[in-house]
Amino acid sequence: PPDVEELGRSTWTLLHSMAATYPEKANIEHQANMSGFLKFFAKLYPCWVCADDFQAWMAHPSGRNQPKLESRKEFGWWMCEAHNEVNRKLGKKEFDCRLWEERWRTGWKD
Ligand code: FAD
Repeated sequence: PPDVEELGRSTWTLLHSMAATYPEKANIEHQANMSGFLKFFAKLYPCWVCADDFQAWMAHPSGRNQPKLESRKEFGWWMCEAHNEVNRKLGKKEFDCRLWEERWRTGWKD
């Protein structure tokens, strides 16, 4: 089976990069494509326990964890919250989502 940690790091890179290159204002087709991608991703991610928990989180009955797909800002924030949910589950430090763009889109300025 794949190495869950290595797979995770690579996958977060893919997912945050997809958010970083998402349109500033996404049209309906783009939103539908991403919505479909996330749905299938959550079913097919090759760490089954990870996938089950991720699906359950997205499908929370309140609707509060549904992907926010209208804009890059909202989608990037949503992805950061999704990642923080996993961080909490694994006892890792939460990431400050205000730094999301710097980490994944514009680069750290130091
Ligand atoms: P990672 O969590 O992989 O993060 C990589 C980098 O992203 C960090 O170094 C940091 O710079 C940045 N980062 C951290 N948090 C955020 C954030 N909130 N927003 C933006 N950037 C951030 N592993 C399990 O053992 N059990 C699971 O159930 C599980 N579920 C997963 C579900 C999904 C959908 C994915 C993609 C991965 C899952 N993983 C799971 C893997 C886990 O999340 C980590 O990828 C893995 O443990 C390696 O962690 P890491 O500390 O190297 O950093």
